[in-house]
Amino acid sequence: ITFQDLGVSAPILKALEAEGYTTPTPIQIQALPIVQKGRDLIGLAQTGTGKTAAFALPILDRLHQNRKHAGEKSCRTLVLAPTRELAAQIGDSFRAYGKFLGLSTTVVFGGASMHKQKQAMFRGVDILVATPGRLLDHVSQRSIRLDKVEILVLDEADHMMDMGFIHDLRKIATILPRARQTLFFSATMPPAIEELAAQFLDRPEKISV
Ligand code: AMP
Repeated sequence: ITFQDLGVSAPILKALEAEGYTTPTPIQIQALPIVQKGRDLIGLAQTGTGKTAAFALPILDRLHQNRKHAGEKSCRTLVLAPTRELAAQIGDSFRAYGKFLGLSTTVVFGGASMHKQKQAMFRGVDILVATPGRLLDHVSQRSIRLDKVEILVLDEADHMMDMGFIHDLRKIATILPRARQTLFFSATMPPAIEELAAQFLDRPEKISV
């Protein structure tokens, strides 16, 4: 099975070729059709399995096939990650896979200039990757609004819980539109993560690798 078989569009195939990706990984084979259908997803997967591309590729495809301006200080896709390193890495992946699409990706995390991040979000972005605390700082300062989010990703949800982001996540959940697609990834699924997933997801399909 190839990326083309999975319905990945030509400009993304070209970028994957440039990255040297020849074959989709098992999580990518499972996740792409579910995301393309617009369904919610729980992915039980460790890093190193290709999980970033498993959500980034179909999201880029959906944004590309239904192009519109995000709106000032808005984003169409929001990706939440526990650490600045992971957030930066996810942002790099969206930029690499989407380099022929002309979509915008911005990454915001704590410990960096609020001002520069505000400027980067001012005209709106297609994909915003954020750590939860810094995202809420921007929400309270009105530098980003979340009412236009179409797709939400929670990556490494178990690490976000370990790092004490539960209250931030609950708050973010109350701000987001209910009509959206949500993709939830975690390496483990103890009861506390199941509860968190239940709060964010609507009849999710489950996959594990
Ligand atoms: P991740 O699990 O998202 O952290 O990805 C692990 C590593 O695998 C990253 O360095 C990716 O660039 C790489 N990768 C992801 N998908 C593929 C693929 N289909 N073929 C080759 N490498 C991949």
